[in-house]
Amino acid sequence: MTQPGTVRVGPAGAPVRQASLREHNLALVLRQVAAGVDGRPPSRADIAAATGLTRATVSALVDDLIGGRLLTEVEPVPRTGAGRPAQGLVLAGDGPAGLGLEINVDYLAACVMDLTGAVRHREVRRTDLRPVPATDALARLAELAGRAGAAARSQGLHLAGTALAVPGLVTAAGVVRLAPNLGWHDIDVPAILAAGTGALQVENAAGAPTPQAENAAAAPTLQVENEANLAALGELHAGPTGPATFIYISGEIGIGAGIVLHGELFRGARGWSGELGHIPVHPDGIDCRCGGRGCLERYAGQEAILAAAGLTGPPLPADAAIGRLVELAERADPAALGALAAAGTAIGVAVAGVINLLDVDTVLLGGVYAPLARWLAPPVRAEIRRRVLTAAWSPVAVQPARLGADAAVLGAAGSIVRGVLAHPARWLNAPG
Ligand SMILES: [Zn+2]
Repeated sequence: MTQPGTVRVGPAGAPVRQASLREHNLALVLRQVAAGVDGRPPSRADIAAATGLTRATVSALVDDLIGGRLLTEVEPVPRTGAGRPAQGLVLAGDGPAGLGLEINVDYLAACVMDLTGAVRHREVRRTDLRPVPATDALARLAELAGRAGAAARSQGLHLAGTALAVPGLVTAAGVVRLAPNLGWHDIDVPAILAAGTGALQVENAAGAPTPQAENAAAAPTLQVENEANLAALGELHAGPTGPATFIYISGEIGIGAGIVLHGELFRGARGWSGELGHIPVHPDGIDCRCGGRGCLERYAGQEAILAAAGLTGPPLPADAAIGRLVELAERADPAALGALAAAGTAIGVAVAGVINLLDVDTVLLGGVYAPLARWLAPPVRAEIRRRVLTAAWSPVAVQPARLGADAAVLGAAGSIVRGVLAHPARWLNAPG
């Protein structure tokens, strides 16, 4: 018997207050459905058996989740053993969805992801944003967001929230303190978007179900986060077989990193960890936009690689230029191979320092590094072997990001989806 005011301890050891017990159990059921049972959609009885909840409790929770369009029933799967086959449960592909947005130095991106993780809409717009004021860049982003919201609605989805990936240092309130390659200082992204067309807020207000009153304040409409952090989280949740401790390196015009330790993103004391691109690899080297000298991104950023490979003119869109670089490298073009080897060496020098400090055992190459990983990884590995004390007996894996070049925008949308699955009660209309 639980006394009023006492707490119960959940499976993970966290105290569970009575008021949030239902939320906890709803999320538990969703996790069980997402995980499946023996590779098939679980029945209510399967979920009861796996969670220890009673069948009556599971049935009530499942009914609420189906009513909120978070779960859906599928045809029974024939199975061996006695008894009627029961209806299976899967995450709903027509309920809440996450909107991921990315603003980077030379492109904008949007994607809509449903609860099953399927991408339902995607748009990338190549455009050099360096000469563009932040307000104009964000207005262009709002256009992509508006099209994504319309695409979601046309497929019967409603947007549960928006996460925006930016290549810079972001405060908890969504203010971009500094994005050197965009030339942004103290840009209040949520305020600018709200003051503009309001596309993001309108999409959320029109599309989402009415959150329960007590949860309304907690329902996020827009979260702004460093792009490498969102990409790292996307990689962490991309499948059950991935590493739990790794550094994700985002190669773009700038270079960022997301550090994941034991399955948790390491943000640092103020949320600003991961500025790998501004680690000096030549202390007296080339000036950097950050005010320092010899920073990694001056030697291994996208523009540095393309320039060294002789691909600076005539101007090519960046994705076409990277594609051209891949072609040249496949043909063993000396300039292309030399550019990639030099960049990989510079990355390896910087990342070896990180590995010596943090003991991460996996390096994921993301952004434009993902399609170039065949050529970048060998010199990165060589520098790790030379410079990391433990490398002789404890090798470090260096591999392309599983989500490829789109990890940040996919990670952004996925962070909203995971938020719905972890806190489902606010998407249900039934009282708690
Ligand atoms: Zn720098």
